[in-house]
Amino acid sequence: ESVVVPDSFAFTGEAGSELPILQGEKFQFQTEVSRLMNIVINSLYKTPEIFLRELISNGSDALDKIRFQSLTDPAALESNPSLNVTIAVHKEQRTITITDSGIGMTKEDLQKNLGTIAKSGTSEFLETMSGDKADMDLIGKFGVGFYSVFLVADKVRVRSKNNNDDQYVWESTAVNDFTIAKDPAGNTLGRGTQIVIHLKEDQDQYLNDSHLQELVTKYSEFINFPIYIRRTKT
Ligand code: ADP
Ligand code: MG
Repeated sequence: ESVVVPDSFAFTGEAGSELPILQGEKFQFQTEVSRLMNIVINSLYKTPEIFLRELISNGSDALDKIRFQSLTDPAALESNPSLNVTIAVHKEQRTITITDSGIGMTKEDLQKNLGTIAKSGTSEFLETMSGDKADMDLIGKFGVGFYSVFLVADKVRVRSKNNNDDQYVWESTAVNDFTIAKDPAGNTLGRGTQIVIHLKEDQDQYLNDSHLQELVTKYSEFINFPIYIRRTKT
């Protein structure tokens, strides 16, 4: 299910799109995660667009989790009653922002899930990628789909708000370390996760509204939540 919101809802700029340097606590990526990211960011894979599939599917998983929790704890939804994914482009800043109102991540979740704990799939994926059957498309199958964002991004910012913590920001330029800080903007999400993708120099094609819409429609075919694309006015 994919809906394009009318032009009157046009995206006019969103907090976080300017991507100033985030001051905060630094963490080293786990060694294998770091190797994986190096492979991804230097990859010349022909369909880097698969990052959209991976991030939409993560948003959908997070929405499933909060919906499941709400069956026994309806109040869990109060922090943000809507259940959807919104995608916005900011042409001048060259960013794509993907926001879900799913379960969100605590500070500890951000630190563990996005960098310091390598899942078993990390080494398996690295092994596959060094052999004859190397196939970037399988990245999600190995449980490391998030890192596919570095096929198109040179800088990524994730802000997340879980019901059990304050809103935090995670930021990485895909080198050895990443930064986490309590969000200086406060709690802007209510609940959920927002990923701001700063596109590499040669990845401008995703800033094109109709191209992006085509890809989002393709990769949201089996998603059970509404996905909104916010069009740019210009
Ligand atoms: P997988 O989805 O197979 O677990 P990923 O690399 O795509 O692997 O994501 C790693 C983990 O990061 C997820 O399992 C989840 O815990 C967390 N995560 C990623 N994106 C989100 C999101 N949008 N909302 C909440 N948690 C997320
Ligand atoms: Mg995933």
